[in-house]
Amino acid sequence: MPWQVAAVALVLAFALPLLHSAEDKKLTVYAPGKAYELAISDVDKQEYASLADLLSPLGKFEQHAALGTFHFRLNDKEGEFTQGKKLSRVGTVQLLIPAKAVLDHGRLLVPVRAMPGLLERFGFKADLHAAGRRLFVGDAGERVNLEVKKPGENLVISFPAVVSPAVTTEGNRVHLLFTKDPVTFWADSIAYTDKLFTQAKFIEQNGIAEVVITGNAPLAANLTDGGKSISITAAPQVAAANSAAPTATSTVAPPVTATPQRPTAPVTTPQPQLPQLQQKNAPTSASVPFFVMIDPSHGGDEPGARFSDKLLEKDITLSLARKLRTELNNRGITALLLRDNDATLTYDQRAVATNARRAGIYISIHAGMPGSGVRVYTSLLPAEPVEKNAKPRGPFVPWDNAQAGYLARSQTLATSLVAELGSANITSASAAAPLLPLNSIAAPAVAIEVATPQTDSKIDSLGAPKYQQSIAVAAAAAIANVRGKLEERR
Ligand SMILES: [Zn+2]
Repeated sequence: MPWQVAAVALVLAFALPLLHSAEDKKLTVYAPGKAYELAISDVDKQEYASLADLLSPLGKFEQHAALGTFHFRLNDKEGEFTQGKKLSRVGTVQLLIPAKAVLDHGRLLVPVRAMPGLLERFGFKADLHAAGRRLFVGDAGERVNLEVKKPGENLVISFPAVVSPAVTTEGNRVHLLFTKDPVTFWADSIAYTDKLFTQAKFIEQNGIAEVVITGNAPLAANLTDGGKSISITAAPQVAAANSAAPTATSTVAPPVTATPQRPTAPVTTPQPQLPQLQQKNAPTSASVPFFVMIDPSHGGDEPGARFSDKLLEKDITLSLARKLRTELNNRGITALLLRDNDATLTYDQRAVATNARRAGIYISIHAGMPGSGVRVYTSLLPAEPVEKNAKPRGPFVPWDNAQAGYLARSQTLATSLVAELGSANITSASAAAPLLPLNSIAAPAVAIEVATPQTDSKIDSLGAPKYQQSIAVAAAAAIANVRGKLEERR
């Protein structure tokens, strides 16, 4: 249909900031006082990254290259590396890296697993968490300490320095997502026999660390100690999701056992709080109840479109997301927000969080002009590589193709959304578009982009509560209509 072709063209023109720069796989390097990311390339089934990008933030750096041989100087150490060679030299020491150095767009790439050894030669201690793609340089790693301070009431996670995780709560779980903080853990998981807390899990994935605390009741998290601690407690309301009826905020019993007990003896308390180490990678087989993951696009440092001095896309997406959550809850459907504050999240983080929690539906919200009403997008998956020289994909599940198995259900959802919006007299149409992170979502997934009600409406109408409410009602009805269809095949 011509309209849809036009819509795709519009998206391509207006959604460019959404498009990720093909650096899906990344290594996060944590050095004292800084953290930075290196893009990873797969070469012969090994992960490679630029050596200059690794070294240059670590001190005074110079490089010279000629005929495939690179000289790197970091502070007072000089090294020589040659394209196509394993043999290299740092200072006076000859060394073999595990696989040959390669040239990519004029940059020298070395295997990621060679990096700790090379850093050591350049004078830095280094520790690589290969599976999670995190590299700790010097004393950058900061071990997290978890302690149930008051049994049945609060669990405190403390850090040696201030941290800034993205915090999301999901029923009985709290997720803390660390992108720049060099947090490390001493086990993969801890089981608690506490009344409230059952488990703490630590996950490292694609340069990101996540702590997941699970309890027997809805949990909430608060930063304390000037940002150096996070206190997890029972959430102040029965299921934060049931926002429909404002229940009394004091559902949580006040600390009944809080007779003024001095915290002197309890430090060496018996088993109840003693964490129990579990096997690495113990399989988690718990089935996940159906829920909708709502992704208010943009946020934090990344405002999205600026419609006026006061009207930012990131605020519109959040307020609409909250309305949609309420409307879904009213229909008995659990819904979570990927951010419920002004957090900055990357597209990768959004996809990782959605997939890790096994969302039943993912819906991303944008606001954008021109046009009118609501555009509904499903993933435009890249065509299968047919070129003769297509790179081997390596042993990893293709991150940018996770949506492939869900596309038909995503389209079912999009069709339902367009129909319900239409019934509510909101202009709407659907199209396929290369919007991030749709391709990476392992669930029925759509993105909606909200424009003003009419092409000649004032721009302020984007933020009008009544307009947003009508969209939220229609979208929630559309999801409720197809939920059964989408869910039965999970
Ligand atoms: Zn946007």
